[in-house]
Amino acid sequence: MNRVLIVEDEQHLADGLRFNLEAEGYQVRVVGTGEAALEVLSAPAPPVDVVVLDVMLPGKDGFAVISEMRQAGQFIPTLMLTARGHSADVLKGFAAGADDYLAKPFDLAILMARIRGLLRRGEWLRASLNHTVAAAAQPQDSFTFGEKSVHFDRQELRVRDQVFPLTLMEANLLRYLVQHEGKPVSRKAMLEDVWGLHEDTDTRAIDNFMVRLRKHLEDDAQRPRHLLTVRGVGYRFVAHPPDSK
Ligand code: CA
Repeated sequence: MNRVLIVEDEQHLADGLRFNLEAEGYQVRVVGTGEAALEVLSAPAPPVDVVVLDVMLPGKDGFAVISEMRQAGQFIPTLMLTARGHSADVLKGFAAGADDYLAKPFDLAILMARIRGLLRRGEWLRASLNHTVAAAAQPQDSFTFGEKSVHFDRQELRVRDQVFPLTLMEANLLRYLVQHEGKPVSRKAMLEDVWGLHEDTDTRAIDNFMVRLRKHLEDDAQRPRHLLTVRGVGYRFVAHPPDSK
């Protein structure tokens, strides 16, 4: 049975979600604060397969919760509930490590579909961590450059013998850059094509993602050779820098 942790302080909304998810066969746990969520998630094997995390919470907000989760190496798929019309919140959530988002008020059927999508990706991730055989059976969806390879379906970056988990959005962004290998891509194009955001959004939010990707991708993040800044435009991914060994 799939287990959902709902982090929402508005009792009527949390109750409605619980009712509908349980009707769909999910095992549901509700907590009203970010602190309580982090406590549940800090267990060695938290009984949670997917997290629905509201941004507006008393005490620690959703951004703080997701960012603490990810910093602690907790990569359970997480959907954030944001306020409609706050596209900056969406980017802030993704930058902090969220996998998906839904603006309030949302259509319940869409929330269910998003949760199913996140669970599918979570299953791939677990399969790749626990069973190399199962992982080998997954469709080939990777890109190798030098001693590094990115596995989009499993949301991970391998550098020599090290494995770095990627959030869904990091994986999607990297895929987009790889698809445009060698060409400059603008921040606006990334926002539209990767995040599906068309509003006038602060495009500098993209830079936070680049900082994180460079940490894993580059031997020296201060002198990137793969993820290059193109001044006044955006970024350019170079798989094989000319002076690479
Ligand atoms: Ca709330």
